[in-house]
Amino acid sequence: MQTSSNVRLAQLTSRGGRPQEEIRPASAAPGRPPQTAADLILPGEALEQVSSTCSGSPPLRPADTAARPYQSEGLAGGRYGALKTALNGLGGVYVHIPFCFHKCHYCDFYSIVDPRRPRAFVRRLIEEVTAISAYVRAPLETIFIGGGTPTLLPVDLLADLLGAIADRLPRRPDAEFTVEANPETVTAPLVEVLAEGGVNRVSIGAQSFDPRHLKALERWHEPASVERSVDLVRSAGIDNINLDLIFAIPGQTLGDWLADLDEALRLEPSHLSCYGLMYEPNTPLTARLRAGRIRRVDEELEAAMYEATLDRLAGAGFEHYEISNWARPGRRCRHNLLYWTNRQWWPLGPSAAGHVAGTRWKNVPNLGAYLKHRPWPPIQDVERLDDDGRAGEELMLGLRLIDGIARDRLEALLALGRRGGERAAAIEGHVDGGRLEERGGRLRLTRTGLLLADSVLADLV
Ligand code: SF4
Repeated sequence: MQTSSNVRLAQLTSRGGRPQEEIRPASAAPGRPPQTAADLILPGEALEQVSSTCSGSPPLRPADTAARPYQSEGLAGGRYGALKTALNGLGGVYVHIPFCFHKCHYCDFYSIVDPRRPRAFVRRLIEEVTAISAYVRAPLETIFIGGGTPTLLPVDLLADLLGAIADRLPRRPDAEFTVEANPETVTAPLVEVLAEGGVNRVSIGAQSFDPRHLKALERWHEPASVERSVDLVRSAGIDNINLDLIFAIPGQTLGDWLADLDEALRLEPSHLSCYGLMYEPNTPLTARLRAGRIRRVDEELEAAMYEATLDRLAGAGFEHYEISNWARPGRRCRHNLLYWTNRQWWPLGPSAAGHVAGTRWKNVPNLGAYLKHRPWPPIQDVERLDDDGRAGEELMLGLRLIDGIARDRLEALLALGRRGGERAAAIEGHVDGGRLEERGGRLRLTRTGLLLADSVLADLV
């Protein structure tokens, strides 16, 4: 779903122009970037050892070696040893299912409309789950299956995938296990499979309850399907339910948005994600905007919608814990908190993005390439931030949280890298301007700052 964790993370962690170091496997020729996720785990020395035991064989590519047992624990001190070791401290995994039955007009997320390939895809995905399972020894705190539309998978395939995850990836007894669902795809057999597979949280892409606004988004589901889905999910014993909503849809009034919020509250979800509509490049929605066929909601109205959300959800007993996220007490999304607290997760499936041991990367968003390269997917956008980049990223992510950043952590971040003085001055300016405040030993966005969060955070990156 477009408003899911991974797509927003991509926006949040976009770091154009900031210093970065592209990392390479120790065995790679200079200039050759890592090709697959295996390059990130297996130290170059391991590749050389494997090669030397196979005289007469053609040189091994990293992807070939991935299927072989790791050669020696002693090699964990190699350049990528830190990343391999860090897998024991992995918080969660994100699994991307790249199928949708229709492309919504606002969506720039990697998903395709291709009903023929789910079987081959799930077989391939299970190979990837198996490959990474050799390295994940500490129980996971969260698993998040997003997309795309995970619930578009035939139920037998979904059962196979959930079974493989349950068998091969250790998780804590209290782990959060989320699956995203399109309301039109939720059926009784599906929710039964989810519950039997250990899923304990479902995130439903409601977006709006008004057919006019769903039409403006080219979102193909009936408003009534949301309530039907919520009821079905609950009937399977899953009571941790998120609803995704979008505001500032062309033609939407403040009254329309409040009606959407009230309808969502009537369904008693435990969590709500409310995002202002984004006009991503290269989407049909943006093309319609440029062609003058739709008009953007003006900034004052969008701000009024956001402020009304703050008030309405506070009045309904929801905790506002991140700029765009609200939860009942104890129901914050633990998986998304991994992102916002800069922790570690592993990506599975095409286009999924991960972060382990200060290294970020993305699996190539191409189903054909994913099906071909097994068991490790081809990767792109590999980067390891320097101190300066790490400090900026943690400031930006930490201040998205309503609790903000503790004073001592803030001081440590300002001491990292060469832009500390510049950032401290920017913080001071925003405090003077009423956009940031220090309260209870923590720096956080004020209500005014929440409305201007993009520009405030951009100054600190
Ligand atoms: S359901 Fe729509 S918004 Fe969600 S991933 Fe598919 S195309 Fe994108």
